[in-house]
Parts: sequence; C-alpha cells; structure tokens
Amino acid sequence: MLVVKTIREVREIVKQWRKEDLSVGFVPTMGYLHEGHQSLIRAAGENDRVVVSIFVNPMQFGPKEDLATYPRDLEHDKEKCIEAGADLIFAPDVSEMYEDNFQAFVDMNLLTQELCGLTRPCHFRGVCTVVTKLFNIVKPDRAYFGKKDAQQLAIIKRMVADLNMDIEIIGCPIIREADGLARSSRNVYLDTQERKAALVLSKAVNKASELINSGERNSETIVSAMTQIISAEPLAKIDYVKVVSLDTMQQISEINNSALIALAVYIGKTRLIDNFFYEGE
Ligand code: AMP
Repeated sequence: MLVVKTIREVREIVKQWRKEDLSVGFVPTMGYLHEGHQSLIRAAGENDRVVVSIFVNPMQFGPKEDLATYPRDLEHDKEKCIEAGADLIFAPDVSEMYEDNFQAFVDMNLLTQELCGLTRPCHFRGVCTVVTKLFNIVKPDRAYFGKKDAQQLAIIKRMVADLNMDIEIIGCPIIREADGLARSSRNVYLDTQERKAALVLSKAVNKASELINSGERNSETIVSAMTQIISAEPLAKIDYVKVVSLDTMQQISEINNSALIALAVYIGKTRLIDNFFYEGE
C-alpha cells in the first residue's frame, strides 16, 4: 500500500491504473480510522483498486468546533487501511488542498439546511466542496459513504446527480460497538461516564425501530418516546430528534413509505449523531 501527500502523485498512480483498465473505488475520510471506515474500504474492494483519503477538512468545521483537537494518527490509519485492503492513501496537508487564494465552493439548497445544517451552518458547503475536489483528484468509478452520516450521504447523492458527476455513490450500513454505540472518531472524546451515557443514542434509535416495526406511524409519538429516553440521561443534551423524508430532509408528521429517523445529541461537549432508516414494507 502506498501513502502519498500530493495531488500530482495521486493523479500519476490513478492514471497508470486507468491505462491497465483497472476500476477505482474511493473512500473519503477524516482519518482516525475505525471499524466503520474499514467496512467502507472492504466494500470498495469490489473495485480493482481502492483509494482512501485522510484529510481533516478545515472548511467543514465551524469556528467553535473541534478542528484543532480532532484526533489524528496516520500510523494507526495506515495499519487499518492495510488490514482492510486499501491500495493507496492520499493524506494531503491543508496547503495542498487549499491554496492561499482559494475562493471556489460547492453548495446546495434545502438538503443542507435541515438537521445538522441548522447547528452547523457551513458544514455541508465544506463537505460538498472537499468531496468535489477529491472526486476531481481521484476520479473514481465508485465512492463509498456511511449511512451513519445519512444527511451527508443524501447530499452527496444529490450533488453527484445535479452536477452530472460520473461516479456511483454507494451507502454502507452503520457499524456499531458491541453495546450499540455507533462507531465514530469522536467517541475518543468520551470519558468513562460519558461513554455509558452515549448509549442513549442507540437506545433511542432502537426504540424508534421497535415502535415503527410494531405499526406506529405518527412521528410525534416516535420523537416523544425517543426524547424521553434521552432526557432521562443527565449528561445528554438534545440537538435534534426528527422524523424526516430522506429526499428532502423535511419533517414528516406521518410515516407512509420510507423515513429517516435522525438525532444529534451532545454528551458533555461531544456532539454525536445516529439514525435509523425505515425503508417501508
Ligand atoms: P469521517 O472520517 O467521520 O468523515 O467518516 C468518513 C466516512 O466513514 C463517512 O462516509 C462516514 O459516514 C463513514 N463512517 C463513519 N463512521 C461510520 C460507522 N460507524 N459506520 C459506517 N460508516 C461510518
């Protein structure tokens, strides 16, 4: 497995693969890789070659967010990538991705303005911009994203369709710890007490799934049952708990066909997300 830091090197390597008629799968990440990321890398193994990017993208962090403290460990990430079967890591410095006079961006209406977009107003503009740049650099056939970031996945799919990017976007299931907590690089921020408290997210998601599977269709009832579970935990503070349409991210009052049940909760200072996607009968 190769590790490169420059756009030029990535382009040269991928160009060579293309000459050999090899297909390319791509997994964009911010590093500090865990089983969730590895599941995407393994899924990308359906291509002849797999590229993983590791880049903590400043553009998607708000001024009061955790850009400076976001966990970074390239040696650990290399091992995780080798284990999962990646062929190339692209780990650029910020200056490689953003020149001093950088000015362009990619943004979207509506989808980016709901859920996480309300608390993190410029977040998805940063995500769309960096993913577009990475797509232009790697030029993959397929790119793999986790359903844990359900809104991000919906936004990337919309962006690729709207801007005619010739890339297939593949959503992969949420990978959880044995006790249910969704794997996240940010879980490392949690102390022992917070780690226990963080279980309210998956408990609330399970409750929603139970209710829906037993026939409940009223969003208010579902949200209220989830809220009750989370509010019982003193270390938890709800950002949002919502039942939305996956196409629009707008709230729906009744679940008719499919629905995304999504939540963001602060556990102490750490903001965690989780969700459940109901696909209909
Ligand atoms: P991040 O490094 O947090 O930006 O995540 C990079 C990619 O890994 C995104 O597509 C995430 O949705 C995905 N991912 C992160 N955590 C998980 C998880 N627990 N299960 C599945 N995919 C995940």
